[in-house]
Amino acid sequence: MATLAIRGGRILRSDMTVTEADVLVDRETGDIVELGAELAGDDELDADGDLVMPGLVNAHTHVAMTLLRGHADDKSLDAWLREDIWPVEAALEPEDIEAGAALGVLEMIRSGTTTFADMYFEIDRTADVVERAGTRAMLGHGAISAGKDDAAARADIEESVAMARQLDGAADGRISTAVMPHSLTTVTPELLELAAAEAHDAGVPVHYHANETLDEVEPIVEERGQRPVEWARDLGLCTESDFFAHGVHLDDREIDLLARTGTGVVHCPASNMKLASGMAPVQRLLDSGVPVGLGTDGAASNNDLDLFDELRDAAMLGKLAAGDASAVAAPDAVSMATAGGADVLGLNAGRIEAGARADLAVIDLDAPHLTPEHDLVSHLAYAARGSDVRHTVCDGEVLMRDREVLTLDEAAVMERAAARADGLLERAGV
Ligand SMILES: [Zn+2]
Repeated sequence: MATLAIRGGRILRSDMTVTEADVLVDRETGDIVELGAELAGDDELDADGDLVMPGLVNAHTHVAMTLLRGHADDKSLDAWLREDIWPVEAALEPEDIEAGAALGVLEMIRSGTTTFADMYFEIDRTADVVERAGTRAMLGHGAISAGKDDAAARADIEESVAMARQLDGAADGRISTAVMPHSLTTVTPELLELAAAEAHDAGVPVHYHANETLDEVEPIVEERGQRPVEWARDLGLCTESDFFAHGVHLDDREIDLLARTGTGVVHCPASNMKLASGMAPVQRLLDSGVPVGLGTDGAASNNDLDLFDELRDAAMLGKLAAGDASAVAAPDAVSMATAGGADVLGLNAGRIEAGARADLAVIDLDAPHLTPEHDLVSHLAYAARGSDVRHTVCDGEVLMRDREVLTLDEAAVMERAAARADGLLERAGV
């Protein structure tokens, strides 16, 4: 067994306590083997004075949208999609997806995110990036019916199913997949039902957007006399493996339905604030036992992929939504960004314990904004930043050591992404 020992630090346990311990990892299986004192490995990472936490899980993003970071801001979701995003996305080439995904993955490794769930196009290109970069990802082709004829809309769902079957288990098992119809309002009912049936037949989840804005909720209520989540359940989109992004506008019956079915929700607070979509009832979801993870959504509506920002936003916005300063407390926010997200994606990760996936972020606490050390969980929720991450480990392999990313050429990734972004906007004529 080839091993890696992370030595000299304190570890964040899943009950949100912090204790001194080394972490021994089996690099072949990619699992955590042992926690304890004075553990030695074939390779070692120094964590003296640091906090070792589970790698963060970004449970909903569109990673290649890093190319559109700062392209169009300060608009509502519908106008932003129709006027600024969809016209540019129509001009995307596979090389753009690869360049944008590499940029996003680089940003995530630097900020301690080891897993992301991604809905986008040309996902075999994103899979290539994940393979090279060494992270973990759940990938899905985002299929949409809006603006397409029946045949093209059906072909798009079929592509989502085919890609999910093809890529599941790729990159030595680091890649899992889902069938990803875009949303309850942009895909026809018939195709939503088909997506669910095909996904479950293939043994993969369905992932989609739901209840993000009132503009999405009201038409469904008026047309069907049902809340969107009730309708989604009737279409087969609410099984234990399935999960959707946003869930901003949910009533008590829907929350109860999510809890009973085990359907996961990915809370995207920065995107919800930036697009003025609303405040998700996160504390009520947690109280009801709904699995909740955190996502950045795409970089065009955030505008970064730093999960520490998201964690802090989730804690802050959760209090505002509940009108209660004790809501979405620091441990809950940290938990959603780690074990919560891993549970939503069905992964044995997000926890530092023997037998779990060795996906870890090592936080350098030697900084003014992290001093003094009254409560390290509080620091993670309210004071830490992605740039405090010193080492990133995924599947037992070191992806970043002492802030140097080992699996990607940083300068080349940034240069290529900037060039592809310029070319993309030129082609799109904007
Ligand atoms: Zn999204």
